[in-house]
Amino acid sequence: MSKFSHIYIEEGATAYPVTQHVLSRFPRSIRVAIRHYKDVFNRPHQNFRRQKASPKLILAVKQEPFLYPGPEVCEDFGHPNFYYTSPVLNCIYDCDYCYLQGLYPSANIVIFVNIEDFFKAVDRKLESGPLYLCPSYDTDLLALEGIVPYASRWIEFAATRQDLVIELRTKSANYSAIAHLKPAEQVILAWSLSPGEVARRYERLAPPLKTRLTAIKAALQDGWQVRLCFEPLLKVYSWQHVYNEFLDEVFSILPAEKIFDANIGVFRMSKEHFKRISRMRNDTDVFAFPMVCCEGEVVTYEDEKELRDFFYQGLKRYLPEGKIYG
Ligand code: SF4
Repeated sequence: MSKFSHIYIEEGATAYPVTQHVLSRFPRSIRVAIRHYKDVFNRPHQNFRRQKASPKLILAVKQEPFLYPGPEVCEDFGHPNFYYTSPVLNCIYDCDYCYLQGLYPSANIVIFVNIEDFFKAVDRKLESGPLYLCPSYDTDLLALEGIVPYASRWIEFAATRQDLVIELRTKSANYSAIAHLKPAEQVILAWSLSPGEVARRYERLAPPLKTRLTAIKAALQDGWQVRLCFEPLLKVYSWQHVYNEFLDEVFSILPAEKIFDANIGVFRMSKEHFKRISRMRNDTDVFAFPMVCCEGEVVTYEDEKELRDFFYQGLKRYLPEGKIYG
């Protein structure tokens, strides 16, 4: 937990209770006052990879807008009013394929400390009807729970709002941090899963598959709605064998009948992010299989349908079609 050598604190963020909470977790970190988080986060000529080896923390106050329409490439699970929000920018994990490397100029982690303003924005949105919201897209909130308890805050908030459904997406095994909370029907805990060897190779710093499965099993036992996110499906040597074994392993541990739903997504990324990331990442073979740029300027495998259909057929052995998206 002592990994942040420096914490940058925006002028306006100092008085917030979240700021004081985070600072109390890192008494030895060097504190640096800044005018605006973008002065640090958006500086030109930053080296994302170098920063990732030793990220700094930035505490800031988010200004409008708080909610953004769900991106086209993301599954809306049948919800017509799909939005995402980013109370934290960047992630403590370091997946080779992570799109955040192409999205942000910096690997430093920004925590927006005015969480109550996010909740107010959600309440305003709810006035016009039901809302499906993803607050853990540009980060992994459960993984950060020991630093800032935003997964619990979002769960507690959603549990009191009738027309709200939130999805908390994670690769963390940190379920124990929220296990004391009562499962709420407005909350879906969504675990991203990859075969063990894919996780070992391409999901640096994220917990191994087995540990994630143990966390999911505990959440299911406690009665949470659990979504399994099989994305990104990645091409690896002998992928048919790898993904078949993977599904067998997942459902040898998890009771399929208790899974709320699942989604499938073959690796895909906007052309712009792909160009930026593949230029930066010559230390990984994650992009080694032939890719094409298809409609909407999205890059994916030239035969992505084959991988998707293969996995879909495999997953159908365990889950009914109506529970599989993507
Ligand atoms: S867990 Fe998700 S957000 Fe975090 S590094 Fe991996 S892909 Fe990126």
